Parts: sequence; C-alpha cells; structure tokens
Amino acid sequence: MLIAAVMPAFLMGVAAPAETVDLLIRGGLVHTGSAAPFVGDVAVSGDRIHAVGRRLGMTARTIIKARGLVVAPGLIDPHTHVDKDLASDDAHARLVPAFLLQGVTTAMIGNDGAGDPGVAAILGRASSRPVGINFAAFAGFGAIRTKVIGEADRAPTRAELARMKTMVGQAMCDGAIGFSTGLFYAPQSFARTGEVVALAKEAASRGGIYDSHIRDESTYSIGLLAAIDEALAIGREARLAVNISHIKALGVDVEGQAPLVIARIEAARRAGQRVTADQYPWSASGTTLIGALIPAWAQAGGRGALLARLDHARLARRLRADISENLRKRGGAGALLIKAGAYKGRTLDEAAKARREDPVAAAMSIVRQADPTVASFNQSERDIKVFMRRPWVMTSSDGSPGHPRLFGSFARKYAKYVVAERVLTPRQFIERSSTQTATTFGLAGRGSLTLGAFADIILFDPKRYAARATYEQPELAAAGVRTVIVNGVVAVHDGKLTGAAAGRALRHEPTPGSCP
Ligand SMILES: [Zn+2]
Repeated sequence: MLIAAVMPAFLMGVAAPAETVDLLIRGGLVHTGSAAPFVGDVAVSGDRIHAVGRRLGMTARTIIKARGLVVAPGLIDPHTHVDKDLASDDAHARLVPAFLLQGVTTAMIGNDGAGDPGVAAILGRASSRPVGINFAAFAGFGAIRTKVIGEADRAPTRAELARMKTMVGQAMCDGAIGFSTGLFYAPQSFARTGEVVALAKEAASRGGIYDSHIRDESTYSIGLLAAIDEALAIGREARLAVNISHIKALGVDVEGQAPLVIARIEAARRAGQRVTADQYPWSASGTTLIGALIPAWAQAGGRGALLARLDHARLARRLRADISENLRKRGGAGALLIKAGAYKGRTLDEAAKARREDPVAAAMSIVRQADPTVASFNQSERDIKVFMRRPWVMTSSDGSPGHPRLFGSFARKYAKYVVAERVLTPRQFIERSSTQTATTFGLAGRGSLTLGAFADIILFDPKRYAARATYEQPELAAAGVRTVIVNGVVAVHDGKLTGAAAGRALRHEPTPGSCP
C-alpha cells in the first residue's frame, strides 16, 4: 500500500522493482529439512534466510547458480573429539578443511565426558578467535570427576558430589547443551549409576540433554544390553532426553545384537521417553591402545599406577590375561591398526612380529612408552546398516585426528549408504544430518532452510559428493561440496575455502528461572 502511495503516477501499473537481497541461490534441488525436495531458490539477507520458494522474483548482490546441485541445511556433527584442536592457535586452519569441505557447518565438542566444565571460556573463544564452523559444547563427566576426585576408583563423598553438581549446573548456565558421559572410560567407569543420575538432574532442570558413550558397547563389564538399559534408566530417573553416542555392537561377542538394542530403545520411545542415537559410518572405531586393551582396574590411579602394575609380577600376569581376552573380543591383533608413534600404519600383529614378541607382550611394551591412537575393526556391516535405518539415528563423525572419520564421515555415508547401497534416501540422510540433530540437541534457529533461520547452507554435487579420506590417508578432504554458507557468509566457493571464519559459539538457553 505504501509503495503505491508514494509511487509517481507514470509508474503505476508497472511491476514494482524486484526486491534485492544479499545472496540468492537459484535453481537447485532444495531440501528444507521438513518438506519434500523441490527445484527452487533460497534468498539470504544478513545472517538469516529471507525466503525459500520455487521461483523467487528477487535480485541479489551475489547470485549462486545451483542447477544440478543439492541445496541443503548445513550439516551438524553431534559427536567429535576436536576440543584441543579447536582451542589451538591454528584452529581455523586445522579444522575447517575437515568440516566445511564435507558440508558440516556446526560441530559439538565435549563428548564422551571429556568436556571441560569451563564452558563460558570455551564458548567465549568463538568471538575472540572465530573459526569457520559453529560449535556447541557439553559439560563432561570425566573432566568434572577428575577435577574433584582425581583418578581414584571410589564413590564421591557427599561434599564431592555437591561440588560436581555445582560444576554441571554452572556449565549449563554458561550455555552447555547438556551433560556428556563416557562411562566406559576410567575414571568415569568408577561411578555407579546413582552418581550419574544426580549430576544429570542438574542438566535436566536447565533443559539439557544426556549424551553418553555407554558403559559397555561389548562384553567388557555389564554387557551391551545392560549398558543401554542403564542409559535409559538415567534418562528416566533424571528426567531428560537421552542420546546414545556412536551406537554400535562392538566385537565378536555382540555381533548381530543391533536388533536387540533397537527393541529396547523403541520400547522406551513408545513409552514416551525421548531417546535418540548418533552413528558414524565406519566399521572401525577409534580409540587408544590403552582404551582398547587395558582393563579399568589397571588404570585406576592414572598412568603412573598402570606402569607400576606392569612391573608387578602377579598383576602383570592378570593384566596379560585381560589384554588377551580384550584382543579376542575386538577380533584379534590383526584388527587393531596403530595410527601413531613408532608403529604407525601397522597392525598390532605386524608390530608384534617386528618386535619378536607375541601381540599381548607387544601391547604391554608399547603401552610402557606411549598410548598411540588405534583404529579397531570391530563392527559388522550388517549391524551398521540395521542401526542406520532407524529414523532416530543421526549422523556423527566421532572425529579426531588420525581416523578418516574426521574428514569423511558425512560424505562417506552419502556416497556409500545413500547412492551406492540405498540404505537411506537423500532426504533421510540430509534430515538426519541436520534438522533432526538441531532439534534433538536444542540448537535454536539451526538445521533447516526456513524463513528466519540462520543461513547455514550447503550446495553439493550429488554425483560427486564422496569421502576421499582412508585409514591410510585420513586427512584427505571430501569431494563434491561446491558452496558452503555459514551465518550468511560464503565460506566455500566453487569447492575452495574462502578463508572466512564466520562460525559462532552456539549457547544453549537454559530453562527460564533455572539459573541465577
Ligand atoms: Zn566415544
């Protein structure tokens, strides 16, 4: 109305000049994250999505032609181990190729209980030293328990539990998205369920989620199914949503148990519990030699205590037996690929031959010197696919340097499980790698191409999008991503990084009234 009123008479009846926006993506196959894909346009103004439609009659300062390309929300990675890299001086240079060239615009840190409770400082770094991706942080049980109790194998005193609760609460009030645990790992494995429930309640009352690498993914302690039950019980008792990290059936003893795990989770979901999972699309997990082979009892008290036990004849004998059994569970010494140090690129079997030792003795010798990262081939393709088909399973990388999953998880899942093997449709892949992830972890305004959402947008060539990283060359960037926009800024153009560092810290908004 206003336009007509101020328009000179000679222009009346002529179409109003086209609206000008900052950026217009034209003619791509648009996946919004909720609607069926359609050929259309996406307009961006500032850091937000201004319009989405079949044919937007707009002009723009920058026009990106998207014919033949998929246009989708920036992908979101809910499980990584890049905390240290993100804190390094060259964080932008180190991490951005891994994430942005796969189309990942947001990553979470602090998983498996590793998250430092100093969340205010961690998130604050995003403004003083921005990187190219958005990130959100968990408060981690392991970091908190170590600060308060150290590595000791015992329950907390009443005062220690109170201190840990305060730390979780403070981290949540500073913007953590939830409470993460890695109950498999010492010293978190020393905690009983009740201790975890008490701390998870601090996240629950502030609207956070419980994200857990469960106590046992195999037959190490309580067993896979009992560990799933424990995670569900923690969610029920503490009254918060549960996300099972990197869901899997690990090792020969539980191979084929994916349907049993799914049955338990889906029964809980039918009963109204909020339960989800994430998964990386690789048959090898990544851990360290100690994490893979050394039992928790031998790690109590930290590294010094472990070395002393290796020197103690009776304990070393017990340790030998346990390492031998752990190797059997993981498929033998040929299924453990060492990723760092003197035996980088060799299996434990090969390292043992080079040392003229048996694999157990070789593992003990190597552990005396260092704790190299390893790739442990321990999951069946069949279980991977059975999990992947469930609608509540999202994509994650579990990415850390040395394993190809940091540079390739999302692109591999698309090329292998969407295009080649048709386990998922492209729409399922995109929604379970962006929209659902944002909803599950409470990332407001992220993960969908809808009016007013933050403009995290990717364009990829559906014929070429694929991982190039391998176990031998884990740091090869993915292929096929043409354009990445982070908060309205072009971070990848024509497949090349622009150098823009437009990522932000994503602070979770605690439940009103739950923080001072
Ligand atoms: Zn983990």
